[in-house]
Amino acid sequence: MSDKNNNEDGKKIVLTASAIEMSDFNLNPFIAFSGGFPMFLPKEFLRKRLYPPTPFNKDGTAKFAPYGLRKIESILIDYFGEENVVTVYPSMLEKFVGKKTKVVGISTMDPLGIGFVSRTYTSFIGISGKPMTTVEFENMLSNPSLRKYRPKIIVGGSGAWQIVKAGVQDQLGIDTVVIGEAEEDVLDIFKKAVNGEELPRQVICRKPRPENIPCIKKPSLFGVVEVTRGCGRGCHFCSPTLRQRYSFPLDHILKEVELNAKNGTRMITLQTDDIFLYKTYPNFIPNKEAIVELINSVAKVEGVEYIQIAHAALAPVVCNPSIVKEIAPTLVDKSRWVYVNNEKYATFEIGIETGSVKLISKYMRGKMLPYPPEQWPDIVVQALGILNDNQIYPLATLITGLPGETKEDVIATLELLDRLKGSRIFYVPLLFTSEMDCILNRERHADLRSLTELHWEVFSTCWSHNVKTWTNGDFQHLIRIVSLIAYLLYYRWLHGPKALKPILKISGL
Ligand code: SF4
Repeated sequence: MSDKNNNEDGKKIVLTASAIEMSDFNLNPFIAFSGGFPMFLPKEFLRKRLYPPTPFNKDGTAKFAPYGLRKIESILIDYFGEENVVTVYPSMLEKFVGKKTKVVGISTMDPLGIGFVSRTYTSFIGISGKPMTTVEFENMLSNPSLRKYRPKIIVGGSGAWQIVKAGVQDQLGIDTVVIGEAEEDVLDIFKKAVNGEELPRQVICRKPRPENIPCIKKPSLFGVVEVTRGCGRGCHFCSPTLRQRYSFPLDHILKEVELNAKNGTRMITLQTDDIFLYKTYPNFIPNKEAIVELINSVAKVEGVEYIQIAHAALAPVVCNPSIVKEIAPTLVDKSRWVYVNNEKYATFEIGIETGSVKLISKYMRGKMLPYPPEQWPDIVVQALGILNDNQIYPLATLITGLPGETKEDVIATLELLDRLKGSRIFYVPLLFTSEMDCILNRERHADLRSLTELHWEVFSTCWSHNVKTWTNGDFQHLIRIVSLIAYLLYYRWLHGPKALKPILKISGL
């Protein structure tokens, strides 16, 4: 796949991401989670089977690229011209990086594998394996063309904070780390790099003005199109809440959908921290007309085979169940997912996080609006009932080890899981991770040593539910991977007797 540079000069600005972040995992955004796990298989095999490259254009540039990178590309093309900016797969760096290359811009979501998912499941295995996301990130940075021509290296994206937090910027040879939404500041940084001026080591970006957020000019991976940005519900462990909430105009959204569909994206992923935030009324009352119009308009665009909503909150489902009833038939019809017996279903990610009213009140009060925190467990149960009745089977995160979590809080989560028995949900239980740009950024990460038997019970209840509910469904590959992790965990006996019972439970023994 590698193509040596037949144009010694290269391009002035080259944009890229690691092989794992440039793949669409065979058009499966949920399997992309597994990139955060260590894998004990050769990279070459994984690149072929798990995260194969998406197609290249005739000139060797990437046909699809991460949405955030496409936004930056759009801004840079407007200023520097299309002839000076390329976005490429990392194996093509040698073709495009040359004497004239001034800067290589890299986007990353999880460069060091210390995001919520990768940290949780890497520590479960507990042997000295690096998550694949890290292996591929380092592999990209060690590309010979970067060493030979020494362009400036600028890294941004939602995982850029990890490089600063881990103090590895110099070790990785990165000139500038860009934190936050980059639209307002990125051009100045690239201008400096192109002019050979000194670069700041780190840039904390200003909040962009909505009018400065351009449409992408080239197709995005998974057909991602942003419909809202920011959240504002204020969960203390979460970074999107710090961003200004904004709903993009429908014509802006449709322009990006049409661009993607015309260029062969089969799936359109509506990027949002909560679809019910789209043009929301005050106090998080969902705007049914706007949401229904959005989904119907996207579905009508020629070439859109699948529609995938990224995230949704649960309280609005209960607040106005008629929205779910109205959009579910389109989402199911345009879904890529099939449950047992060929039954189609739609899905998106939701955050249950905890069953504890105390923790909800303390850290996630806004998640509940317009309801009071005391109703959280009931809202979760009701919302799941409504979603399942409409053939929406979500993927739900739970967070263990939140600061100050007590035995009673964990028991409340177990009670909630018990009430949800029989629901069609795929659980992703996680260890609390203190990300740099969230309110709890000074708190300690939760780790396996601090897990109690009750915490293990939460993990095992979730995974035994997943095994029972999903073994024949779309998540079977992920289940196999996690079963392997469970086996390793049992076999190596790393976590002492506390872990035995849960592992036996997952294995169904
Ligand atoms: S509701 Fe979700 S996106 Fe919004 S602040 Fe809470 S965790 Fe973040």
